[in-house]
Amino acid sequence: MTNSTGYIAAIDQGTTSTRCMIFDHSGNVVSSEQVEHEQIFPKAGWVEHDGVEIWRNTRRVVAAALASEDLQTADIKAVGITNQRETTLVWDRSTGEPIHNAIVWQDTRTAALCEELAGDQGAGRYQERTGLPLSTYFAGPKIRWLLDNVDGARDRAEAGELCFGTMDSWMVWNMTGGPDGGRHLTDVTNASRTMLMDLETLEWDEEICREMQIPTSLLPEICSSSQVYGKVRERGRLADVPIAGILGDQQAATFGQACLEPGEAKNTYGTGNFLLLNTGEEVVHSSHGLLSTVCYKLGDKKPIYALEGSIAVTGSLIQWLRDNLGLINSSSDIEETAKLVDDNGGVYFVPAFSGLFAPRWRPDARGVIVGLTRFVTKGHIARAALEATAFQTREVIEAMQADSGVELSTLKVDGGMVVNEMLMQFQSDILGVPVVRPVVNETTALGAAYAAGLAVGYWEGEQEIRDNWAQDKQWDPVMDADDRDARFAEWNTAVERSFNLA
Ligand code: ADP
Repeated sequence: MTNSTGYIAAIDQGTTSTRCMIFDHSGNVVSSEQVEHEQIFPKAGWVEHDGVEIWRNTRRVVAAALASEDLQTADIKAVGITNQRETTLVWDRSTGEPIHNAIVWQDTRTAALCEELAGDQGAGRYQERTGLPLSTYFAGPKIRWLLDNVDGARDRAEAGELCFGTMDSWMVWNMTGGPDGGRHLTDVTNASRTMLMDLETLEWDEEICREMQIPTSLLPEICSSSQVYGKVRERGRLADVPIAGILGDQQAATFGQACLEPGEAKNTYGTGNFLLLNTGEEVVHSSHGLLSTVCYKLGDKKPIYALEGSIAVTGSLIQWLRDNLGLINSSSDIEETAKLVDDNGGVYFVPAFSGLFAPRWRPDARGVIVGLTRFVTKGHIARAALEATAFQTREVIEAMQADSGVELSTLKVDGGMVVNEMLMQFQSDILGVPVVRPVVNETTALGAAYAAGLAVGYWEGEQEIRDNWAQDKQWDPVMDADDRDARFAEWNTAVERSFNLA
């Protein structure tokens, strides 16, 4: 299948899977292939991925997405990359071999290290410069852990033999030649999640690197989110196609949802939930537990910033009910199970499996289910699990309104959980504002495609992105205000029970 304008490819290297999606000029999906990778849990709190498996899967999905529609290299005008953020890989620049599995963003092995780095200055030590509190979530402490714990790693790093990268860097380095001249770079959005980049200058902060004992020779070059970084050098269907867009997954979804003006926000419901509010050319510092981060930077234009509320566990709680408890057979069964009952029966489920992220940042929290009686059935548990996502989202939105003064009028949503009608209705009820879902729910891949397509002139400007956005469905609030507030108060009481458990 070909057309004269051609297509843009996006590689979405996510937490659970790697996808390749091909988009046409209207932003519609023409072809899509996906393959899951292994989740490695060596100990409680540790989560790893195999970088070599992920790169192999990337080649597989790219080949399959092109082959299934019989697309040729000449049909693809550019490729964009989006990725799970913070997940940290270090590899040898002469062999291309990772020195260790990638440490995934959810991994909490750096808790003691973060506490040590915080010292007397507290977790906010680097917040003014990086927008982030010291937390196991970010890449910097994960790099430090690898250098301290993998035999010989620090010496090799100091000798300039190793590269650090998030998954975007790993993809680009391999795609542009690997040990044979591969380009070692990242974009500003991914760099803004390391805790090593100054948000204003968009350069590595040498003082923080020194204090974290990370040699700067390890670090990739920081580029914009939309420019030609290089061409694909490996043989295969993307040979010679320009790589022209890189955005961390949540920033990509914000871009794909056309949140291009200050005050526009989206919420993605995946493994975790991530709400991003575009704050324009200004870095807004949070006093309510949100992150300040780079939203995107198009070529030479000024960077656009965002406030972010990151929730560690939402969709992964549904996976946990499926895989660890066997309560349901597949994630989509959760809705049917929750419909067995009319309400949560007084049960609240706080899924603090990795501590609590925004807006509370409590590494000492662990999961709790409160309100159990003999009356409670699996339906109530299923319902409480879904409601947990909506309550956590309300906490983040309240923090965002307090920080920005922007009152949310509607919430744009996307991600794997938004097919769940019950959750979407409850979300609208518990927020008291309409929730809207776009026609193209694959906003993460779409955002990366837009970044790449803009860089090569496939799309002319941001107006085309706005024009492509179309609504699929809207949910309006029906719950009365007293009921909403009473349930939220009960949720807050449950959250307090999750503290001081680790
Ligand atoms: P990611 O990009 O983070 O890997 P996705 O956006 O693909 O995640 O979303 C997958 C998540 O959505 C999984 O955690 C899964 O449990 C959850 N999920 C999928 N279908 C449903 C459903 N019908 N109801 C609730 N959650 C769902």
